[in-house]
Amino acid sequence: MRLWIKEPLAILAADAERGVVVEDTQIVECVARGRAPASPVDATFDASRHVVLPGLVNAHHHFYQTLTRAHPAGFGKELIPWLVAMERIWDRTTPEALRIAVRMALVELMLSGCTTAADHHNIFPPGLEDAIDIEVEEAMRLGLRMTVSRGSMGISEKDGGLQPDSIVQDSETILKDSERVLRLYHDRNPGAMIRVALAPCSPLAVPRRVIEGSAELAERFDARLHCHLCQSPDEDVYAMQAFGKRSVDILEEAGWLAARTWVAHGIFFNEGEIERLGRAGVGVAHCAASDMLFAQGTCPAKDLEDAGVPVGLGVDGSASNDSSNMMEAARHSLMLGRLRYGADVTHLDALRWATLGSARCLGRDDIGAIAPGMQADLALFTLDEPRFSGAHDPVAALVLCGAHRADRVMIAGRWRVIGGEPEGVDLEALIARHKAAARAFA
Ligand code: ZN
Repeated sequence: MRLWIKEPLAILAADAERGVVVEDTQIVECVARGRAPASPVDATFDASRHVVLPGLVNAHHHFYQTLTRAHPAGFGKELIPWLVAMERIWDRTTPEALRIAVRMALVELMLSGCTTAADHHNIFPPGLEDAIDIEVEEAMRLGLRMTVSRGSMGISEKDGGLQPDSIVQDSETILKDSERVLRLYHDRNPGAMIRVALAPCSPLAVPRRVIEGSAELAERFDARLHCHLCQSPDEDVYAMQAFGKRSVDILEEAGWLAARTWVAHGIFFNEGEIERLGRAGVGVAHCAASDMLFAQGTCPAKDLEDAGVPVGLGVDGSASNDSSNMMEAARHSLMLGRLRYGADVTHLDALRWATLGSARCLGRDDIGAIAPGMQADLALFTLDEPRFSGAHDPVAALVLCGAHRADRVMIAGRWRVIGGEPEGVDLEALIARHKAAARAFA
């Protein structure tokens, strides 16, 4: 089956003015101005109302937090007090609640044009041992591509940490389950729908055994490593007090400064650290909304890129952002980038971070761009809403006027969103179930 997505209003791709041809799960051809597809097609889709982007890639999230959006316990708090309050609420997460939270996050992301997401699941209260299995099941059901990150927290109150005892696990349990889910779900093949990453919450939230053990497992299974890093100015103050070194050094000693690692936030690196991260090829998921809401600081995205760091975007947990919208993340990264760097930051930077940059963070060269041989992951937006009326550059309009909802989304060659609605999902029923599940967290 060869489908020609024909005559787009605009497309973010080189030499594809007349659209792209998709065959099975892949883009097989870009059709340049004045050209026609090289061989006959079986069907065409008239894209004359659509701006076509590569599917957006979300490089950091916590799906379970969709159950605690706009929660009063989090009001008026900066990062650490916020975490202390919220972690004592998240420990109520049951398998049923997680399943519905995951489904909601996946649908919300997909409706915003996201085709691949990394989720950092880092709480394991008793009874939630199958959290990763639940995420994989839901992602497979909805057809969104995922890097499911097996998170962990291992230092709780009883050991002098911040986390309640109820959500942490011991090192052996963490590493044993990490190996289990790698064996079960990690698909290294091009075009993979599910990959598994190992993701201690931060270098300070788990014992050294977990940081090192995760690096060994990641090497053995050719998987990626992920954690929060330098999100708050307090982090390295604490790291120096407790370990006599900065968190980047802790990671380096454990074998993490490597191209298989990407970290979330990355605000408070010093110059030398930025250079070292760039040399090692460590990626950074810039989480603009979350960083603004926590008033911590701004990610030095341009400096990181200049040093060779792949920079992607993450919506971050819905509780710290209250939204899982990747177009919004792109817009926020543009605005925050302007604030830090001035007018040099453009919508094309924001879209590059949201697509290729995030794909590189996840170690993927088969997604994030529209070109022959890439996976057929596409996000199509119309400019029919009042907010776009009068816009001149259609691609810029998506970011500058604030596109929020894709009209069509294709993942691995299949339409997963049609007319702004997720395929095979009763959205009204899902919202009702999700709202009901959220009541347990009041
Ligand atoms: Zn996070």
